[in-house]
Amino acid sequence: MKNIPELFGSKVFNDKIMQARLPKTIYKAINETVQNGKPLELSVANVVANAMKDWATELGATHFTHWFQPMTGITAEKHDSFISPDGKGQIIMEFSGKELVKGEPDASSFPSGGLRATFEARGYTIWDVSSYAFIKDDTLCIPTAFCSYSGEALDKKTPLLRSMEAVDKAATKFLNIIGKSDVTKVTTTVGPEQEYFLIDKEMFLKRPDLIYTGRTLYGARPSKGQELDDHYFGTLKSRVSDFMKDFDSELWMLGILSKTKHNEVAPAQHELAPIFSTTNIATDHNQLTMEIAKKVANRHGLTCLLHEKPFAGVNGSGKHNNWSMSTNTGENLLEPGKNPSENTQFLLFLAAVVQAVDEYQDLLRVSVASAANDHRLGAHEAPPAIVSMFLGDELSSIIDSIVTDTAYTNHGSSKMVTAVSVLPDFNKDTTDRNRTSPFAFTGNKFEFRMLGSAFSISGPNIILNTIVAEVLNGFSKKLEGAKDLAAAEAALIKDTFTKHQRIIFNGNNYSEEWVEEAKKRGLLNLKTTVDALPTFISPKSVELFTKNHVFSEAELHSRYEILLEEYSKVINIEALTASDIAKQLILPACMAYQKQVVDLLNAKQSAGIRAITEQTIATDLDELSYDLFEEIKKLDITILEAHTIADTLANAQFYRDKVLAAMTSVRTIVDTLELKVASSYWPLPTYGELLYSVN
Ligand code: ADP
Ligand code: MG
Repeated sequence: MKNIPELFGSKVFNDKIMQARLPKTIYKAINETVQNGKPLELSVANVVANAMKDWATELGATHFTHWFQPMTGITAEKHDSFISPDGKGQIIMEFSGKELVKGEPDASSFPSGGLRATFEARGYTIWDVSSYAFIKDDTLCIPTAFCSYSGEALDKKTPLLRSMEAVDKAATKFLNIIGKSDVTKVTTTVGPEQEYFLIDKEMFLKRPDLIYTGRTLYGARPSKGQELDDHYFGTLKSRVSDFMKDFDSELWMLGILSKTKHNEVAPAQHELAPIFSTTNIATDHNQLTMEIAKKVANRHGLTCLLHEKPFAGVNGSGKHNNWSMSTNTGENLLEPGKNPSENTQFLLFLAAVVQAVDEYQDLLRVSVASAANDHRLGAHEAPPAIVSMFLGDELSSIIDSIVTDTAYTNHGSSKMVTAVSVLPDFNKDTTDRNRTSPFAFTGNKFEFRMLGSAFSISGPNIILNTIVAEVLNGFSKKLEGAKDLAAAEAALIKDTFTKHQRIIFNGNNYSEEWVEEAKKRGLLNLKTTVDALPTFISPKSVELFTKNHVFSEAELHSRYEILLEEYSKVINIEALTASDIAKQLILPACMAYQKQVVDLLNAKQSAGIRAITEQTIATDLDELSYDLFEEIKKLDITILEAHTIADTLANAQFYRDKVLAAMTSVRTIVDTLELKVASSYWPLPTYGELLYSVN
């Protein structure tokens, strides 16, 4: 591998390149736009575009694209080449400021949730100056936001940028009020940990369910699952290790700070964690990380599965959204310092997050809702659908003492005694570790753990930023003009923790008792996507988002429609695939095997030999096959019925209650048959083969 510092960011039009290649005045103007949101002059854009083109073509790029993030959850691009006729039968390579700043892709085929009439299907992509351009597949990619003609957001980036602005304004104002007058900007930071599965590509190609739906719709439990916990942090198999090396170097070239890699709990499951960056960049980078994981895997004869639940009975994949806020003066606002109990500023920000999470539990739940993630949340492998916060012993007892007006005695962090003389004793991180909590304080940041592995992190961060902005604005109102600021701060901290203490839970989130306890506390338990989504358009949500200029009411409704429709569409595709596989692959395989059994039965009978085994097997298979045939019929009828329900919410409810259940009935029989039919007849690679064949 080339030396890493040289490799790192070599495909990014980053600050260093801009400084080297742009005239000083232009570089300054761009920075003004990035730092302070100053509008960009076309004359500046022209110079930048030309420098970008020169740089990109030197690195072999032939095309450019506006790279954007429509509501499909994946990224979109339309490539244009740099060539332009010179009028003399030759071409020159050109890229103008206008092309850099704005694109006009036809938007009619992207989900809009009814935002645009079909006659007004044009969309605009607008350069996001705050995220660097980069080269991917010989194409210069310009990160852009995607809007309709009238400025409505059609993507995941626009509202994210708006939410970052909302929290910046709110937190800066609040800090100024409490005496931090030198702070002029607050940025939210995110480090998303990404889980994924790697399986053999040839196996993947033999599973129509994986191809069409990303998850296995059938598959009996293998004789060895994850019970030995021998995969977690285990030695990397050589094919996996080769993949990871290649993956890292691709990410580094794109300036993505890939840092940690290891095997996860389930067989064939792995994780990557980058070093955190600002939310906007982290989101772009995470989208690229997922895309590149798939591409590099393919190159290694592997398939990367990003689905939240590829295998029933085996842990699924999630994404941990590590989130914090920092100031332009370099301060992490969630850093407790040595004496958190005396750190008023920290306690105020902690209180703000506690209130935000408690008041908007429903929206945090919505932000992680999808048909796929429903399989994980609450299934004892990921946090439950109930949102609560883990703060650890130290912070919790500080809060207790504040609420009850009792003195807090700092016990200090406890020492971890290793009892091995060559290993030093070290102080235990007091916030570590409750892996079952959906929203855990981990030292100097919060870790939101409910996200699914395939999610864009944009949604959850839009919510986090907006709800914290809203609460901070409320805090500002309370402290603004206070005669005795210290007293007002203390009262606000006490009042907030007292009101919102119910959201704090340090126990085992996977337990049944917690479900009961949470109910007593009045916390929400929105079990499925369909339960959660309607809260997105409640009057309270509309007020929150419109007040903070993150979503208009029309945008909110459009997103609600898109998410509900997507839920139904996903299950519809799964149901059709399940039915096709059962009819076209499973039943024929069962019959072929039965024929072999019956042939032997006949041969034995004509030879006058006892054939009781064949008789029993044939009868058993016949009965199961008939049950299967009947259940497939019911599934097909249920799918047809779903298509007759026009109302999107009722339709989604029907998919959840009826279609999923019909699929389960079919699956139960198929999985039973898998263990009874000779493996040479079974048409699908088994769980064992899928999970253990990469070496
Ligand atoms: P674990 O697996 O124990 O949860 P990791 O070290 O794998 O922890 O991941 C922690 C993540 O948190 C990393 O991506 C790291 O960059 C990120 N992180 C650390 N500090 C911050 C911060 N201030 N803001 C956002 N993310 C942070
Ligand atoms: Mg984590």
